[in-house]
Amino acid sequence: MNNKIKMQKQKHIALIAHDNRKEDLLNWVERNRELLSRHFLCGTGTTAALIAEKTGLPVKGYKSGPLGGDQQIGALIAEGQVDFTIFFWDPLTSQPHDPDVKALLRISVLYDIPVAMNQSTADFLLTSELMDKEYERNIIDYYSRLRKNISAQ
Ligand code: PGA
Repeated sequence: MNNKIKMQKQKHIALIAHDNRKEDLLNWVERNRELLSRHFLCGTGTTAALIAEKTGLPVKGYKSGPLGGDQQIGALIAEGQVDFTIFFWDPLTSQPHDPDVKALLRISVLYDIPVAMNQSTADFLLTSELMDKEYERNIIDYYSRLRKNISAQ
């Protein structure tokens, strides 16, 4: 059996972009400003500051990605304080914090949160009818799996 976690109508959305993708994310946020203004926004340091500056939307900023910002967002997902991620990562450049990026994507899958990693996915997610509804996420029940494995030994 898995655990359910309820997402509220108002989502807690993390916005992150690597340097070569920041302009694309800024333009995307600008185009979707009205819809995004109905949710709580946060992001890694530089991305959050640029979005707030360009759009005037309130965006809570954490540390810059290479300084631990992606790990902070991952911790917020684990604590249930972020339930939606838009992450425009750069597929053509390796990053000093690639392991943190991988960790963030892993924790996003584990906690069953929607993650858009490119513009078309972000468009499909944001236009989903579920954006304005409550939604039950389906979290793998790690402890009961562990118990089953131990008792099978
Ligand atoms: P930044 O971090 O928003 O501080 O640039 C993003 C990242 O590189 O993960």
